[in-house]
Amino acid sequence: MSIFLWRLISNRIPVDVKLQWRKIELASKCYCCSERPNIEYLQHLFIQGEGAAKVWSKFDTWFLGRSYPLRREDSIPDRLDIWSKRGNHSAAKHISRLTLCLILWFLWAKRNKCQHKKVSFRLFSVVWQVQMHIWKLVDPGRLSPNHWKGATSSMKPFPIKPERRLIPVAKVAKWKAPDPPWLKLNVHGCCDDGTGKGRMGGVARDHYGNVVVAFTTPLKARTEEF
Ligand SMILES: [Zn+2]
Repeated sequence: MSIFLWRLISNRIPVDVKLQWRKIELASKCYCCSERPNIEYLQHLFIQGEGAAKVWSKFDTWFLGRSYPLRREDSIPDRLDIWSKRGNHSAAKHISRLTLCLILWFLWAKRNKCQHKKVSFRLFSVVWQVQMHIWKLVDPGRLSPNHWKGATSSMKPFPIKPERRLIPVAKVAKWKAPDPPWLKLNVHGCCDDGTGKGRMGGVARDHYGNVVVAFTTPLKARTEEF
Protein backbone atom coordinates (compact mmCIF):
# COMPACT_ATOMS: atom_id res chain seq x y z
CA MET A 1 0.00 0.00 0.00
CA SER A 2 2.88 2.36 0.81
CA ILE A 3 4.55 1.64 -2.50
CA PHE A 4 1.28 2.18 -4.31
CA LEU A 5 0.84 5.60 -2.66
CA TRP A 6 4.41 6.57 -3.43
CA ARG A 7 3.86 5.63 -7.08
CA LEU A 8 0.54 7.50 -7.13
CA ILE A 9 2.14 10.72 -5.91
CA SER A 10 4.96 10.24 -8.42
CA ASN A 11 2.48 9.76 -11.30
CA ARG A 12 3.62 6.21 -11.92
CA ILE A 13 0.33 4.35 -11.78
CA PRO A 14 -0.35 2.61 -15.11
CA VAL A 15 -3.81 3.98 -15.88
CA ASP A 16 -4.80 3.93 -19.56
CA VAL A 17 -3.69 7.48 -20.32
CA LYS A 18 -0.30 6.79 -18.77
CA LEU A 19 0.12 3.70 -20.95
CA GLN A 20 -0.89 5.70 -24.03
CA TRP A 21 1.72 8.31 -23.08
CA ARG A 22 4.21 5.44 -23.07
CA LYS A 23 3.25 4.79 -26.73
CA ILE A 24 1.15 1.71 -26.00
CA GLU A 25 -1.82 1.80 -28.33
CA LEU A 26 -5.07 1.12 -26.56
CA ALA A 27 -8.60 2.43 -26.39
CA SER A 28 -9.42 3.79 -22.97
CA LYS A 29 -12.66 3.44 -21.04
CA CYS A 30 -13.07 3.73 -17.29
CA TYR A 31 -14.94 1.20 -15.15
CA CYS A 32 -16.11 3.60 -12.49
CA CYS A 33 -18.87 5.49 -14.30
CA SER A 34 -22.03 3.53 -14.87
CA GLU A 35 -23.78 5.92 -17.25
CA ARG A 36 -21.16 7.96 -19.03
CA PRO A 37 -17.79 6.18 -19.09
CA ASN A 38 -14.80 8.44 -19.51
CA ILE A 39 -11.22 7.82 -20.51
CA GLU A 40 -9.15 6.57 -17.60
CA TYR A 41 -6.64 9.02 -16.15
CA LEU A 42 -5.41 9.53 -12.59
CA GLN A 43 -7.60 12.48 -11.74
CA HIS A 44 -10.70 10.70 -13.01
CA LEU A 45 -10.07 7.35 -11.37
CA PHE A 46 -9.10 8.71 -7.95
CA ILE A 47 -10.94 12.03 -7.60
CA GLN A 48 -13.50 13.03 -10.21
CA GLY A 49 -15.00 9.81 -11.54
CA GLU A 50 -18.45 8.74 -10.41
CA GLY A 51 -17.10 5.89 -8.26
CA ALA A 52 -14.32 7.90 -6.60
CA ALA A 53 -16.50 10.96 -5.94
CA LYS A 54 -19.14 8.85 -4.21
CA VAL A 55 -16.62 6.99 -2.06
CA TRP A 56 -14.97 10.25 -0.93
CA SER A 57 -18.30 11.87 -0.10
CA LYS A 58 -19.38 8.77 1.83
CA PHE A 59 -16.34 8.97 4.12
CA ASP A 60 -16.50 12.76 4.25
CA THR A 61 -19.56 12.39 6.48
CA TRP A 62 -17.35 10.79 9.15
CA PHE A 63 -15.73 14.09 10.03
CA LEU A 64 -17.26 16.98 11.91
CA GLY A 65 -16.56 20.61 11.06
CA ARG A 66 -15.21 19.92 7.63
CA SER A 67 -13.50 23.28 7.17
CA TYR A 68 -11.86 22.11 3.99
CA PRO A 69 -14.64 21.14 1.59
CA LEU A 70 -13.90 18.56 -1.08
CA ARG A 71 -13.62 20.15 -4.49
CA ARG A 72 -14.07 18.33 -7.74
CA GLU A 73 -11.01 20.02 -9.19
CA ASP A 74 -8.74 18.95 -6.31
CA SER A 75 -5.51 17.42 -7.55
CA ILE A 76 -4.36 14.25 -5.80
CA PRO A 77 -1.78 16.16 -3.67
CA ASP A 78 -4.53 18.69 -2.79
CA ARG A 79 -6.82 15.89 -1.69
CA LEU A 80 -4.05 14.30 0.40
CA ASP A 81 -3.44 17.64 2.09
CA ILE A 82 -7.10 18.50 2.69
CA TRP A 83 -8.14 15.08 3.86
CA SER A 84 -5.30 14.65 6.35
CA LYS A 85 -6.54 17.81 8.11
CA ARG A 86 -9.95 16.26 8.81
CA GLY A 87 -10.63 16.27 12.54
CA ASN A 88 -7.81 18.71 13.45
CA HIS A 89 -5.69 16.04 15.04
CA SER A 90 -2.03 15.37 15.64
CA ALA A 91 -2.00 11.57 15.84
CA ALA A 92 0.09 10.00 13.09
CA LYS A 93 -2.30 7.07 12.76
CA HIS A 94 -5.43 9.23 12.88
CA ILE A 95 -8.47 7.85 11.13
CA SER A 96 -8.38 10.67 8.57
CA ARG A 97 -4.94 9.59 7.36
CA LEU A 98 -5.97 5.95 7.38
CA THR A 99 -9.15 6.49 5.39
CA LEU A 100 -7.19 8.57 2.91
CA CYS A 101 -4.76 5.74 2.16
CA LEU A 102 -7.43 3.06 2.21
CA ILE A 103 -9.82 4.87 -0.14
CA LEU A 104 -7.08 5.35 -2.73
CA TRP A 105 -5.82 1.79 -2.35
CA PHE A 106 -9.20 0.08 -2.61
CA LEU A 107 -10.24 2.27 -5.57
CA TRP A 108 -7.16 1.00 -7.37
CA ALA A 109 -7.74 -2.59 -6.23
CA LYS A 110 -11.33 -2.45 -7.48
CA ARG A 111 -10.29 -0.96 -10.82
CA ASN A 112 -7.82 -3.84 -11.28
CA LYS A 113 -10.44 -6.39 -10.39
CA CYS A 114 -12.80 -4.84 -12.95
CA GLN A 115 -10.09 -4.96 -15.59
CA HIS A 116 -8.67 -8.41 -14.97
CA LYS A 117 -11.56 -10.35 -13.47
CA LYS A 118 -14.34 -8.68 -15.47
CA VAL A 119 -16.43 -7.73 -12.45
CA SER A 120 -18.50 -4.56 -12.35
CA PHE A 121 -17.52 -1.55 -10.25
CA ARG A 122 -19.60 -1.66 -7.08
CA LEU A 123 -19.44 1.36 -4.87
CA PHE A 124 -20.59 -0.60 -1.83
CA SER A 125 -17.75 -3.07 -2.25
CA VAL A 126 -15.07 -0.33 -2.05
CA VAL A 127 -16.72 1.27 0.99
CA TRP A 128 -17.07 -2.11 2.66
CA GLN A 129 -13.42 -2.99 2.10
CA VAL A 130 -12.26 0.31 3.61
CA GLN A 131 -14.51 -0.18 6.64
CA MET A 132 -13.45 -3.79 7.03
CA HIS A 133 -9.77 -2.85 6.99
CA ILE A 134 -10.37 -0.26 9.70
CA TRP A 135 -12.30 -2.81 11.71
CA LYS A 136 -9.33 -5.16 11.55
CA LEU A 137 -7.24 -2.46 13.22
CA VAL A 138 -9.89 -1.59 15.80
CA ASP A 139 -10.63 -5.16 16.82
CA PRO A 140 -7.14 -6.07 18.14
CA GLY A 141 -6.77 -2.59 19.71
CA ARG A 142 -4.34 -1.08 17.22
CA LEU A 143 -6.57 1.99 16.99
CA SER A 144 -7.47 3.82 20.18
CA PRO A 145 -10.14 6.53 20.78
CA ASN A 146 -7.41 9.14 20.27
CA HIS A 147 -7.20 8.09 16.64
CA TRP A 148 -10.88 8.96 16.23
CA LYS A 149 -10.66 12.50 17.56
CA GLY A 150 -12.90 14.77 15.50
CA ALA A 151 -14.73 11.92 13.77
CA THR A 152 -18.53 11.97 13.79
CA SER A 153 -20.50 10.82 16.81
CA SER A 154 -22.28 8.24 14.70
CA MET A 155 -19.01 6.36 14.38
CA LYS A 156 -18.13 6.38 18.08
CA PRO A 157 -16.84 4.64 20.04
CA PHE A 158 -15.86 2.47 17.14
CA PRO A 159 -17.48 1.39 13.94
CA ILE A 160 -19.69 -1.64 14.11
CA LYS A 161 -18.21 -4.50 12.23
CA PRO A 162 -19.52 -3.98 8.70
CA GLU A 163 -21.72 -6.78 7.49
CA ARG A 164 -21.14 -8.17 4.07
CA ARG A 165 -24.09 -7.56 1.86
CA LEU A 166 -25.16 -10.85 0.42
CA ILE A 167 -25.96 -10.77 -3.24
CA PRO A 168 -28.58 -13.42 -4.15
CA VAL A 169 -27.24 -15.81 -6.73
CA ALA A 170 -29.48 -18.07 -8.83
CA LYS A 171 -28.28 -21.66 -8.71
CA VAL A 172 -29.41 -24.74 -10.60
CA ALA A 173 -30.65 -27.44 -8.19
CA LYS A 174 -30.69 -30.98 -9.54
CA TRP A 175 -32.71 -33.80 -8.02
CA LYS A 176 -31.10 -37.24 -8.18
CA ALA A 177 -33.24 -40.39 -7.99
CA PRO A 178 -32.44 -42.88 -5.18
CA ASP A 179 -31.15 -46.39 -5.90
CA PRO A 180 -33.87 -49.09 -5.82
CA PRO A 181 -35.56 -50.12 -3.58
CA TRP A 182 -35.01 -46.89 -1.62
CA LEU A 183 -37.35 -43.90 -1.49
CA LYS A 184 -36.08 -40.37 -1.25
CA LEU A 185 -37.89 -37.97 1.10
CA ASN A 186 -37.43 -34.23 0.55
CA VAL A 187 -38.87 -31.91 3.18
CA HIS A 188 -39.01 -28.17 3.61
CA GLY A 189 -40.32 -25.86 6.30
CA CYS A 190 -40.82 -22.14 6.50
CA CYS A 191 -42.13 -19.51 8.87
CA ASP A 192 -43.93 -16.20 8.28
CA ASP A 193 -42.00 -13.55 10.22
CA GLY A 194 -45.10 -11.37 10.48
CA THR A 195 -47.57 -13.89 11.90
CA GLY A 196 -45.03 -16.29 13.41
CA LYS A 197 -46.91 -19.20 11.82
CA GLY A 198 -44.92 -22.08 10.41
CA ARG A 199 -45.69 -24.79 7.92
CA MET A 200 -43.84 -27.76 6.47
CA GLY A 201 -44.28 -30.28 3.73
CA GLY A 202 -42.53 -33.19 2.12
CA VAL A 203 -42.59 -35.54 -0.82
CA ALA A 204 -41.27 -39.11 -1.13
CA ARG A 205 -40.31 -40.47 -4.55
CA ASP A 206 -39.09 -43.84 -5.79
CA HIS A 207 -36.13 -44.59 -8.04
CA TYR A 208 -38.18 -43.64 -11.14
CA GLY A 209 -38.94 -40.25 -9.62
CA ASN A 210 -42.62 -41.13 -9.12
CA VAL A 211 -44.34 -39.57 -6.11
CA VAL A 212 -45.21 -42.25 -3.55
CA VAL A 213 -46.51 -39.98 -0.83
CA ALA A 214 -46.72 -36.23 -0.22
CA PHE A 215 -47.85 -34.25 2.79
CA THR A 216 -48.12 -30.75 4.21
CA THR A 217 -48.89 -29.66 7.75
CA PRO A 218 -48.99 -26.52 9.89
CA LEU A 219 -46.40 -26.32 12.67
CA LYS A 220 -47.00 -25.25 16.24
CA ALA A 221 -43.29 -24.96 16.86
CA ARG A 222 -41.69 -21.59 16.22
CA THR A 223 -38.19 -20.21 16.01
CA GLU A 224 -36.89 -18.63 19.19
CA GLU A 225 -34.22 -15.98 19.02
CA PHE A 226 -31.29 -16.54 21.33
ZN1 LIG B 1 -15.29 6.71 -14.67
